[in-house]
Amino acid sequence: MNKPAELKLGTVPVWINGKPVSTARRYGDVFNPATGQVTKRVVFADASTVDSAVKAAAAALPAWRDTPPLRRARVMQEFLGLLKKNQKALAAIVTEEHGKTLPDAIGSVQRGIEVVEFACGIPHLLKGEYAENAGTQVDTHTVRQPVGVCAGITPFNFPVMVPLWMFPMAIACGNSFILKPSEKVPSASLRMAELFQEAGLPDGVLNVLHGDKEAVDAILGHPGIQAVSFVGSTPIAKYIYETCARHGKRVQALGGAKNHAVVLPDADLEFAADALIGAAYGSAGERCMAVSAVVAVGAAGDPLVRLLEKKAKTIKVGAGDAEGVDMGPLVTGPHRDKVAGYVEAGLKDGARLVLDGRDSAVPKEGFFLGTSLFDHVKPEMTIYKDEIFGPVLVMLRVDTLDEAIALVNRNPYANGTAIFTESGGAARRFENEIQVGMVGVNVPIPVPVAYFSFGGWKSSLFGDLHVHGVESVKFYTRTKVVTTRWPNQDVSERLRSGDTPAPGFHMPTLG
Ligand code: NAD
Repeated sequence: MNKPAELKLGTVPVWINGKPVSTARRYGDVFNPATGQVTKRVVFADASTVDSAVKAAAAALPAWRDTPPLRRARVMQEFLGLLKKNQKALAAIVTEEHGKTLPDAIGSVQRGIEVVEFACGIPHLLKGEYAENAGTQVDTHTVRQPVGVCAGITPFNFPVMVPLWMFPMAIACGNSFILKPSEKVPSASLRMAELFQEAGLPDGVLNVLHGDKEAVDAILGHPGIQAVSFVGSTPIAKYIYETCARHGKRVQALGGAKNHAVVLPDADLEFAADALIGAAYGSAGERCMAVSAVVAVGAAGDPLVRLLEKKAKTIKVGAGDAEGVDMGPLVTGPHRDKVAGYVEAGLKDGARLVLDGRDSAVPKEGFFLGTSLFDHVKPEMTIYKDEIFGPVLVMLRVDTLDEAIALVNRNPYANGTAIFTESGGAARRFENEIQVGMVGVNVPIPVPVAYFSFGGWKSSLFGDLHVHGVESVKFYTRTKVVTTRWPNQDVSERLRSGDTPAPGFHMPTLG
């Protein structure tokens, strides 16, 4: 596989105050999942490295916070241009370290770029509210001020898109930022920091740290960090949320998922099956919005499983940068083995294995696994209860829409869901009653566009505010309310008369 031209690194450094730092006490290995080979090593930050990054971010904060939003937006515009220019190169890094196919990686970079487009409108988004004459001679207005030094901790599955959900909005709002991407896919974040510097971002406003729990714990416990955004698995999201809360930090922690697609008998089943195949097996199922459970209602079940089997068999598995490949490898060897273990667990639990990905003809080198499909899965089975995060689709059968809604609502995860139907009434009811953060109607992966906000409910999100869109502006700013009185009188006249306001002992009221 060709190395992206911009990246000539044996060691992936951290990026502090606009400079790479390659020395460390510990390093991690970075793999190419399509070959199974280690391609680079990555610096693992410890507490002192984290402290250096916080110091750099804190030092850069006052000047950046005081930079008018319009000027901050101009830097963002430059960054946007550079991201567009480097879209393919960034996607190549994603494919090299994550394994997803190049077209899929290009699409994921595009979704991240759209958040930067949204961030370019920051002057408008930061405008406050104003009430004239809130009381006699009293006006009230709000201002949105940056929170301070913010941190972002991201998962392996979207090395460009998920970091772009966070740092552009935080920085546009006037904060400085410390990004800690997944240690499995570190290079794209570093490249984005270089591009942002080239766009004119002052040094120290964006810092990139790499590492594992040691680095994360140092971030969570550092008193100089005011807010933390996290995206990753549910157990770690819960840990991040609780630890940040204990340290008095603002936190949004997005967790894992089990996304259901409900298919009604009146749906266009050919269309639904095509949509489900892409949503279940795209990116080898390593998407937090992947459809991992199909709920077939009534007569939809038999024809749907036949269609899914037929289409899943045609998926071409191979290296992500090879022509005509639909599905790449899984991210690591241990993860591939864990996913294969779920196929065994499903068999043991008595589900019907329609297609066994372990038998597929896949490349021998690298972390490949074919597509698996289970039918007649029951809610108590592990393959339904756990987030598998691999190319395994499970199908459950119910008799009615009521049962389907109840099943989805009982699941602790609530990131995304979809319904396939020709009935507007059924879709409207589903949309209203389903307790999930993002809902698709004949749309299998309902990821909101960047000017809406992304986030689930229940165990898929710990915190209150979702990422990007208007909710991210709320997360990365604090609102201040200012009440102003300018008595409408001639000061010289009042001074002459010696008339001064009497002290107020009662709760002040306006009016
Ligand atoms: P992960 O939770 O293992 O890791 C996420 C981040 O947390 C990484 O930066 C990692 O270094 C750090 N981390 C890992 N273990 C830690 C620990 N014990 N203490 C402190 N920090 C730790 O997740 P992953 O495997 O990288 O990503 C896959 C998961 O992310 C899936 O569960 C997927 O559903 C989820 N995800 C969710 C969304 C969403 O929007 N809800 C989006 C993408 C991925």
